[in-house]
Amino acid sequence: MDISIVIPLINEAESLPELEAWIRQVMDSHQYSYEIIFVDDGSTDDSWKVIEKLRKQSARVKAIRFQRNYGKSAALNEGFKQASGDVVITMDADLQDSPDEIPELRRMILEDGYDIVSGWKKKRYDNKLSKNLPSKLFNAATRRASGIKLHDFNCGLKSYRRQVIKSIEVYGEMHRYIPVLAKWSGFRKFGEKVVEHRPRKYGITKFGWTRFINGFLDLASIMFVGKFRKNPMHFFGLWGTLFFLFGFIVSFYLALSKFFFDKTGMTQRPLFFFAIFAMIIGTQLFLAGFLGELISRNSAERNNYLIQERIE
Ligand code: UDP
Ligand code: MG
Repeated sequence: MDISIVIPLINEAESLPELEAWIRQVMDSHQYSYEIIFVDDGSTDDSWKVIEKLRKQSARVKAIRFQRNYGKSAALNEGFKQASGDVVITMDADLQDSPDEIPELRRMILEDGYDIVSGWKKKRYDNKLSKNLPSKLFNAATRRASGIKLHDFNCGLKSYRRQVIKSIEVYGEMHRYIPVLAKWSGFRKFGEKVVEHRPRKYGITKFGWTRFINGFLDLASIMFVGKFRKNPMHFFGLWGTLFFLFGFIVSFYLALSKFFFDKTGMTQRPLFFFAIFAMIIGTQLFLAGFLGELISRNSAERNNYLIQERIE
């Protein structure tokens, strides 16, 4: 199998036949062997019926149907499990991504040696400031935090070496950060290709403005988890100790100055409250670190190494 195309979708019935026909035309003209994996993320329209019909016409169409809406990340994750192509392409179902980009995306993986090639919608059609500005900020923040130099992390059109998608788990709303997940797993070669962004032909967008808030919260947690998931104590223990020590030394100083220099009562001094506060926070952080350690020690993933090769 040359190419697996994974397409997460919810309520995109009108787009699907056109999308499938277009992909088929591109694939046939290059004579690739391919599969299309539609993941129906809980559609309430006719999407599934349309998929069944497409399947009847072509055995290259495969599909997974969720019982309810689990989100784009879950849909991608499930599609990845099933994908068996050397190169795996993801694209949105709404015809905003062009299948004409597929051959080049594939070539960049196989010939240029990239692990991931991300589409970059340089010129956007939904040209609204309310979408573009947050998106610029979001990409800049992700670039800085992750050290991965991509312009458009959230682009649905990407290609992957098969090994990459078999090594990562996309959960929550982490579909925006798949390159970051891949970096955790040890993949380093990230490429980018300017892709055509087309206006949405049918239906409406499935993400509202909350995407930006969620996006930033997810970025904070992904960077934190990425750094400290294996040893939470390295974060919480350090800050807990610093806070506690600060509080302790200050209280000690306050006590000394009361007993030896007979200053006014230590509880009257603002510093006293800082000291108490610092000691409480310090203890809390330390305990959070302990709990984190216990949880991560029990995690089924604690020894999930990714082995690239082995000689026996
Ligand atoms: N999608 C999905 N599950 C969701 C939300 C979206 O599978 O919960 C799919 C959607 O059908 C589309 C793709 O993800 O194929 C991108 O969504 P959309 O086009 O609405 O996002 P936008 O282009 O506005 O960023
Ligand atoms: Mg779209």
